[in-house]
Amino acid sequence: MSSEALIPPIWQSANFRFDSTAELRAALLDEQGHYLYTRGNNPGTELLRARLAELEGAEDALVFGSGSAAIAAALLHQLKAGDHVLCVRDAYPWTTWILRDWLPRFGVTCTFVDGRYIEQVQAAFQPNTRVLMLESPNSFCFDLQDLASLASIARARNCLSMVDNSYCSPLLQRPLELGIDLVLHSATKYLNGHGDVVAGVICGNREQIAGIFKQEFQGLGAILSPHDAWLMLRGLHTLPLRMERIGQTALWLVDQLALHPRVERVLYPFHPSHPQYELAQRQMKGPSGQFSIVLSSAQPEITERFCDALKHFHLAVSWGGVESLVLPAIAKSSENPSPGLVRFCAGLEEPALLWEDLQQALDKAYA
Ligand code: PLP
Repeated sequence: MSSEALIPPIWQSANFRFDSTAELRAALLDEQGHYLYTRGNNPGTELLRARLAELEGAEDALVFGSGSAAIAAALLHQLKAGDHVLCVRDAYPWTTWILRDWLPRFGVTCTFVDGRYIEQVQAAFQPNTRVLMLESPNSFCFDLQDLASLASIARARNCLSMVDNSYCSPLLQRPLELGIDLVLHSATKYLNGHGDVVAGVICGNREQIAGIFKQEFQGLGAILSPHDAWLMLRGLHTLPLRMERIGQTALWLVDQLALHPRVERVLYPFHPSHPQYELAQRQMKGPSGQFSIVLSSAQPEITERFCDALKHFHLAVSWGGVESLVLPAIAKSSENPSPGLVRFCAGLEEPALLWEDLQQALDKAYA
């Protein structure tokens, strides 16, 4: 009787047992090549790593207990006291925190640059710059960086390039093909896609991944649990369907919003009004699900009324799941220079329902 499960099981075990001391010794000597302890290798996690590597076109991948853990591990692996990092302005806030507030305690410095302008990035390199940290597009304003050009500039300076690819997922952007060295993800977002797992990914070549595995992955121990790895494998099954749907929904909603009299501006890489529209078309394979708008002549009270009136966009921070979300910039800081800036993440609901919701909330906000 065959018991080959079509969906892989969950290997919910901390330990793996051996039949002989010789086998145990071999595993201790090469933990990446054996199942010894789940803080290293676990069959379900290994399956997930292989699928993620294939999606990014990478030789190997590692999965972590959060996107921030993956980003921290990737940075720590490259850096030592005296090194310098170049990072794009307005990266994910905890990425900025690691580089601006935390790594300086260990003698690593960082300069933040406007990644839209290649000359500005080029001018900010120092002789000790070891890492170029990119995020394209970034969240809220959706500024892009020209990944192929910046990867080759970094390589010429013997500097490792990394990009946070969470917004695009590997289906819409494959940075390794453009010459980037390491790709990072908050897999909490589109890769898992169901809003029920916090996870992170690093994709790169075999040597880089083996180095991180032996040091930061095992030593800091921010692993993904076997159960969460299994949930992520489940999430990946529908990644192409979800990305297609949310991209089309976002594109359509942005087109409607751009024509609405109460909307001053839309911010979306696939809208012709975006200053880097041409680069987005060239670098990305299609539209993704997040966009922002600036409400016209909005006082904070109007923005707040608008967001509170929405019924199908939920006020929540971590995007990329099945539900549509809204996040006003004023929720992050009451002194926000752009009180009318509001970010949306399209979910899997009917696009017409979402558009109706936006219209009624705009009516209420300005009533
Ligand atoms: N990168 C981006 C672009 C993000 O939006 C986030 C989280 O919101 C992260 C990284 C951090 O990922 P995590 O929340 O999985 O630690």
